Amino acid sequence: MTTTTEATPEIRSFEADVAKLLHLMVHSVYSDKDVFLRELVSNAADACEKLRYEGLTDAGLLGDDGQPRITVTLDPDARRLTIEDNGIGMSEAELADALGTIARSGTKAFMDKIAGAKDAEGSQLIGQFGVGFYSAFMVADQVEVVSRRAGADTAAAWLSDGLGTYTIRPVETTDAPARGTRVLLHLKEDAADYTQSFKIERTIKAQSGHVPVPIFLKEKPD
Ligand code: ADP
Ligand code: MG
Repeated sequence: MTTTTEATPEIRSFEADVAKLLHLMVHSVYSDKDVFLRELVSNAADACEKLRYEGLTDAGLLGDDGQPRITVTLDPDARRLTIEDNGIGMSEAELADALGTIARSGTKAFMDKIAGAKDAEGSQLIGQFGVGFYSAFMVADQVEVVSRRAGADTAAAWLSDGLGTYTIRPVETTDAPARGTRVLLHLKEDAADYTQSFKIERTIKAQSGHVPVPIFLKEKPD
């Protein structure tokens, strides 16, 4: 967990549709929880692609680290799984906008589709749609996102238990990736096997085989 000298961070509420979606995720009877990894890896790859694109007109954003990569770190003792990228990153405002609202296309389409559907039907739909970042709460009871936008000299952390509220606070840059985003999942007890390398390797192979960014697997945090 990162620390800061800041005062207690402000507690913010998710948009009503996000809260609804999270409730559905957490209470889902849908058994294929593997999709969370596909979603987080695809966000990491998207972030690397956005950086590559912005770097075409502003080479300074790439600094001395022009090689995109995604690092997945397993920590079975702490029951933690971390997905980190060195992509575009998010500012504090972008964190609130991206991870508190439901403006994104995939999630919005999903919510439109399940509007009026019973919980069980909604559960089936989770597998068919790209439901995005919030699917992390299918396997985690706490999610922390620490991010530093390319070119920024500040970093921020977003934290939530997925139960309706989240907090955002500034963090020291030394507690954040040099550039990009780190998503830390504190796994639920019944999702502990996602800290096993065979399970992660198999899931990545099955779901993220075509991701155009190299994915590295690490056994323990530094
Ligand atoms: P989508 O990927 O369909 O836009 P998501 O729910 O997966 O929806 O992600 C929501 C938004 O959060 C993304 O559009 C992006 O702006 C932001 N985001 C999520 N993960 C990352 C990341 N690793 N790096 C940068 N931005 C991210
Ligand atoms: Mg996504």
